[in-house]
Amino acid sequence: MGKQISPERKGLFYAGLVIQVIGGCLFAVPFIAIPIIMMRMHRGSDSPGPGVMLVAFIGFALIAIGGAMRGIAAKGVAGSGLVLDPEKARRDLEPWTRMGGGMVKDALDEADIDLKNLGGGSRPEKVIMIKCRECGKLNEEDSKFCQECGKPI
Ligand SMILES: [Zn+2]
Repeated sequence: MGKQISPERKGLFYAGLVIQVIGGCLFAVPFIAIPIIMMRMHRGSDSPGPGVMLVAFIGFALIAIGGAMRGIAAKGVAGSGLVLDPEKARRDLEPWTRMGGGMVKDALDEADIDLKNLGGGSRPEKVIMIKCRECGKLNEEDSKFCQECGKPI
């Protein structure tokens, strides 16, 4: 595996996680604060400021931002061992799979050329054939016995 986890992406993932946790805390604040504020309102002391709902909104935004950051980070690190999502890992590994496939294809192309040469189909001048003295059958240069009659060459 030649792909490395870049520290930036690793950091991005954990930063996203921390932001989500902070966002979650902020988002929870109004649900804790509102009953207290309601009680205060009932007593007629304070009025609930819009700040409480703003805190919830910021918390919600942080959860979304943190999630997006983790998503971006995950696409980068998924293929390098720290698998967070199999689907993302597959997408991340796609360039590698393509590269591997390309290498196999190249090897097959080379093998194909070699086979053509050996077979004497398209470029027979590259292969030296020896004619059997007994039957006239053309045999490969390194053959010890004739393919046709089995006599030593
Ligand atoms: Zn022969």
